[in-house]
Amino acid sequence: MTTTRFAPSPTGFIHVGNLRTALMNYLIARKSGGTFILRIDDTDPERSKEEYVDALKKDLEWLGLHWDRVERQSLRLDRYADAADSLRKIGRFYEAFETPTELDLKRKKQLNMGKPPVYDRAALLMGDVEREVIRAERGRGVWRFKLELQRIEWEDGILGEISIDSASVSDPVLIRQDGQVLYTIASVVDDMDMGITDVVRGSDHVTNTATQIQMIEALGGIVPHFAHHSLLTGPQGESLSKRLGTLALRDLRESGVQPMALLSMMARLGSSDPIELRSNMDELISGFEINHFGSAPTKFDETDLLPLTGKYLQMLPFSEVQDNIYALGVPVEMAELFWLVMRDNIETLGDLESWWKLCRDGAEPVIEEGDAEFVAKAMILLPDGPFTSETWGTWTTAVKVATGNKGRQLFMPLRKALTGQTHGPDMASFMPLLQVVKARV
Ligand code: GLU
Repeated sequence: MTTTRFAPSPTGFIHVGNLRTALMNYLIARKSGGTFILRIDDTDPERSKEEYVDALKKDLEWLGLHWDRVERQSLRLDRYADAADSLRKIGRFYEAFETPTELDLKRKKQLNMGKPPVYDRAALLMGDVEREVIRAERGRGVWRFKLELQRIEWEDGILGEISIDSASVSDPVLIRQDGQVLYTIASVVDDMDMGITDVVRGSDHVTNTATQIQMIEALGGIVPHFAHHSLLTGPQGESLSKRLGTLALRDLRESGVQPMALLSMMARLGSSDPIELRSNMDELISGFEINHFGSAPTKFDETDLLPLTGKYLQMLPFSEVQDNIYALGVPVEMAELFWLVMRDNIETLGDLESWWKLCRDGAEPVIEEGDAEFVAKAMILLPDGPFTSETWGTWTTAVKVATGNKGRQLFMPLRKALTGQTHGPDMASFMPLLQVVKARV
């Protein structure tokens, strides 16, 4: 039974980078009929905020990434303490007392000598008496997991064969001096207890994975399948880390991006499969293959989201958007027509507002100097409203006869005079929506 989890730390609003992780885990679970767990990694009481938990749930719900259950690390501290005891019992957990400054100094020395800056395990050489003395002096130390010196290997679902020499990694600190349990061990205990079979996360976790594999083995658990996706960059390959704050899901939602547009993009971006707009989650699930993703950094350009959103809206029937249309004040009798005409001319639902204003109040006409006479003549021929779907055809025929203008010379000045724009809806369908023609005078 496949079980995956999305495990955000509620220390900020989640962004497109987090979404990639959430979505991959979600799709794997759903594709195999398994379980998708939302795990809140809130072991840091200072930085974790309820506001962020609520916000990330809202973001996932907006996208339709429904979870089967929620787990919270802050409610499982006893389990982590048990695991720490087990590691102590088997001699894989030790207390170390170096201050951050001392560690820094050690690292600098190692680097100067051309050695990797790996913790030297000085604490392991201390005798019991020495340990008591230093504890009396400095208080509690941190607790480190003692890695076994060997190569740690796994077949990564995205990166392929991975082999990491544990001698190049410091024994990870699992409990801080103030007693706070750190994510590295909490995550291992959770993955074991919750029967997680597949872990997909960012490639910034590769070293964590190496140490966690040893922890799982030390605790007698089953190592899940790991896959590490590449990190997102901007369109030019630039780092996104500073900009991720502005790519929060809530901001994308507010800017009018549609869930299916975002999901269609993020479920395929960085894979060998093309990004195509999908109309529902089932299509995304069935076509999802984790091993189609590559290890190279993945370019993300948020400007691609609006055209995809526009495409999605073009497929929507009136019934799905009627509330938005009525909220603008569009009269019932023209609401459906308004939607059918406008949906091809918008990128987001927010664009409808200016189109409705234009229909209701008339557009500021755009009339080129050379067209003034032609437009004035045409306006005299324009019948009184309300207009119908016939109006444009009969009117432009009459204008053509009266002025001799045809083709672009006939249609473009009239479009600009009535809509103030060079592009826009099919004019025959648009005319019945137009309540006021400002270019008449
Ligand atoms: N809370 C961790 C993070 O957000 C979870 C990593 C993991 O998936 O194990 O980076």
